[in-house]
Amino acid sequence: MKRTLRVGLFVGVVVCVLVSSLTLKSGKAAGVGKAGAQASASPPPQASTPQAAATPQRDEKLWKKALALHKKTVVIDGHNDIPTVMVDEDYDMGVSSVGKYHTDVARLKQSGMTGEFFSIYVDRQYATQEWVAKNYVREGGSSRRALDLIDASYRMVEKYPKDLTLATSAADIVRAKKQGKVGVLMGIEGGHAIENSLSALREFYRLGVRYMTLTHNNTNDWADACCDDAKHNGLSEFGKEVVREMNRLGMFVDISHVSDKTMSDVLDVSKAPVIASHSSARVFSNHKRNIPDELLKRIAQNGGVVMVNFYPAFLDEKVRAAGIERDAKLKTQREALRGQFKDDQKRLDEELKRLDDANPIPNTTLSMLVDHIDHIAKVAGVDHVGLGSDFDGVPNLPEGIKDVADLPNITYELLRRGYSERDVMKILGGNFMRAFAEVERVAHTDRRQISGEGSARRLEATKK
Ligand SMILES: [Zn+2]
Repeated sequence: MKRTLRVGLFVGVVVCVLVSSLTLKSGKAAGVGKAGAQASASPPPQASTPQAAATPQRDEKLWKKALALHKKTVVIDGHNDIPTVMVDEDYDMGVSSVGKYHTDVARLKQSGMTGEFFSIYVDRQYATQEWVAKNYVREGGSSRRALDLIDASYRMVEKYPKDLTLATSAADIVRAKKQGKVGVLMGIEGGHAIENSLSALREFYRLGVRYMTLTHNNTNDWADACCDDAKHNGLSEFGKEVVREMNRLGMFVDISHVSDKTMSDVLDVSKAPVIASHSSARVFSNHKRNIPDELLKRIAQNGGVVMVNFYPAFLDEKVRAAGIERDAKLKTQREALRGQFKDDQKRLDEELKRLDDANPIPNTTLSMLVDHIDHIAKVAGVDHVGLGSDFDGVPNLPEGIKDVADLPNITYELLRRGYSERDVMKILGGNFMRAFAEVERVAHTDRRQISGEGSARRLEATKK
């Protein structure tokens, strides 16, 4: 789902969250994305008390220590949606976008980032018959959309070679660190991008894609999503083959956005560690995008890493509940506006924005974000947690982290809470690096050739 939101100076492309107040971009994907904004029917969260609710006075000595540690550490972020605006808005990351986007080259450098995953996000619309019938010749389908985003990512790396470098291996990330550059990694978001073809999956691997989120919020032809109807009771047989092929290639299986049952099936099948590139703990916000404790424990057994999403509604039940309440309250008014301005998307965006502004909901804090890290470290272990911001995929961020440049604030808060430097380094990137090395090891054990040994199976066409 891609939605454009205008908040003051901020023009954000919201791809990873579902806030029904946001408006769909012109002519795209009407009627999608409602599911994720719904309340889950399950019981309320068991815990939601931040350990340090108020921002304490900064301890300058500790801050210096945090900055020094942050600087020497490999810092990895699991999910950044800036490629979508590179393609749709022709955005050049070398141009400052402070107050508009969460990410530009200067702030990426400032953030101390070593490896940033650019999200190759493919909206569900590209996989619909309506889209294909209407737009295929002009705009292509799901794979073509992914290719456009991959090309845009390459363009930025090639345009700013002093600051950015393409990274497709753990060794590349280490090299980026030594060179003082930001390693740009790529991960596909939405398994429909492979158009049900293992050959396409391999081509994406060849292009440098190193994870694939099996679904976005939409159930596809072989895997059930978090926030859509379940059609396969988790992973279908072909879905299991996709996971095995990803293991064989050396591509992370990303379990963000899938249903709990799909997650469980992946953990049964995968021989290599998995990641949740941008998911938080369900205990603090009862959203289906978040991961429940029993699955956190299983991810630990798998050797995987849960990279915490920074989106306030995923972090804090109060924010999620307020959003649902506002959605219900404004439903009629929003529908009326959509009818009134259906041919004027820009005006519609403005009007919806105005309506939301008149009905604000609370935000959460960076402290709450770090509570998720604490919780995952407690339940799964400190070796299984990382960062998965969702920068430029979410309309807002917690107080204390306004954009990518504020990442050192997390390092400070971790130290303030008493984490050892060693554990902070694991959380910021070490855990991901360990898992990446293991994914590569499994692939190297299994694979001598990319295509030659891979299955040519495609999902059979279904009768319409
Ligand atoms: Zn997402």
